[in-house]
Amino acid sequence: MNSLTFYGGVGEIGGNKILLESIKARVYLDFGQSFDFGTDYFYEWLEPRAANGLECYFEFSLVPMIPRLYSRTMLRFTDMPYEKPDIDGVFITHHHSDHIGHLSFLDEDVPIYMGHGCKAILDAYSKLYPSLCDIGNHNNIGLFKSGDKIPIKDLVFRPIHVEHSTPGAYGYIIESEKGNIAYTGDFRRHGPMNEMSDEFIREAAKSKPRVLLCEGTRMTPDPEIYYSEEQVYEKVKGIMDASEGLVLGEFSMCNIDRFKSFYKAAIESGRKLVIDTKYAYILDNLRAKVELPDPKKDDAIKVYFRLSKSCNFCEKDYFKFEQPFMENMITFREVKERPTNYVMVTGFNKLIELVYIRPEKADYIYSSSEHYLEGEENKDHRRVLENWLDHFGVTFHKAHCSGHAGKSDLEYAVKEINPDILIPIHTQNPKEFEKIHDNVKILKRGDKLEI
Ligand SMILES: [Zn+2]
Ligand SMILES: [Zn+2]
Repeated sequence: MNSLTFYGGVGEIGGNKILLESIKARVYLDFGQSFDFGTDYFYEWLEPRAANGLECYFEFSLVPMIPRLYSRTMLRFTDMPYEKPDIDGVFITHHHSDHIGHLSFLDEDVPIYMGHGCKAILDAYSKLYPSLCDIGNHNNIGLFKSGDKIPIKDLVFRPIHVEHSTPGAYGYIIESEKGNIAYTGDFRRHGPMNEMSDEFIREAAKSKPRVLLCEGTRMTPDPEIYYSEEQVYEKVKGIMDASEGLVLGEFSMCNIDRFKSFYKAAIESGRKLVIDTKYAYILDNLRAKVELPDPKKDDAIKVYFRLSKSCNFCEKDYFKFEQPFMENMITFREVKERPTNYVMVTGFNKLIELVYIRPEKADYIYSSSEHYLEGEENKDHRRVLENWLDHFGVTFHKAHCSGHAGKSDLEYAVKEINPDILIPIHTQNPKEFEKIHDNVKILKRGDKLEI
């Protein structure tokens, strides 16, 4: 008999960390960090000492105390003795922190499996943001593409690409003599790559799984509001067409579908898309895996260089990774002089550029998750953003669609795949799944289920 133990990803959105044990194999499905990780004990300057590894996290049971899993360095100040790991692999669905955030705790010899695209994004992010994107050291990272078969003792893992708000996202079909398991990871069906998710659903259905682990971020009791990437594009284009000034757009850097919507809308509106050097670096690194324009020479793209020490925009003032993009350089002077020629990709931390550009009649399109603009915890962020936009007389707009399947698409996936047992994960409303399947297992953190 196989079993699943849920160390994260149940009763919460994100934090997926699921142990699958068969007769011979022990593997984890994702090894993520919960979105509210540590917030009950740490606040502002009160934070755990990174150098002390897992000590503080074990103290408050923030990370499960599992022997033969964590690295010697991470266990150094804890009561848990180091032992060689007994895990056959950790299978990552995609690079978001709620799926990979605790990889840095693992022993270097635990094999990690991920898609080529996921690795390319992680490599670029860890170079640009080493303190934010640290997956630790791993001696054995196995890279796969959709449809590969990866045998792990008595199991066979089959990753199949899915559409999500980032490239390099996969679901898994895990073949086992004791019944197959399908794991959706995070997915959606309302974007330009929806065929990928449909391929996963078809393959999962064909495998006649005993268990389906299905994400349910948007499974809520509220009526569904359907908004597709195509509708985001239409709205963004409408704003660009109507704007009498610079258009500013904020969206997640790895949301390549959103990049493409802005890129296409900018071209259609007769504008060029201005991106900063970090974004240029990320796009350039993804070009080998995903079809993307070349930021070094694409006609519709300009790479924005911030004012440097010498004020002369000369090569020596910039990091090495930025220098290859200088041939396609734009500065605040050109954006300020001809604002209607441009759409500038921006973000909260990049608002400082407005001091130099001094926009007039500009429009700001917020095209990221509304979560970051809502709630008490984001009050100050909201206030500061509003102050900046007010100060420069910038008009605020929203245009976004989720990276997660809506209720009707979740229902479609569950009905098509038709598992014997349905386990909702990555959701705050697991009971909602009982409306679409008659054998739903609702689990809480720490539960182990024999399947
Ligand atoms: Zn997630
Ligand atoms: Zn995700």
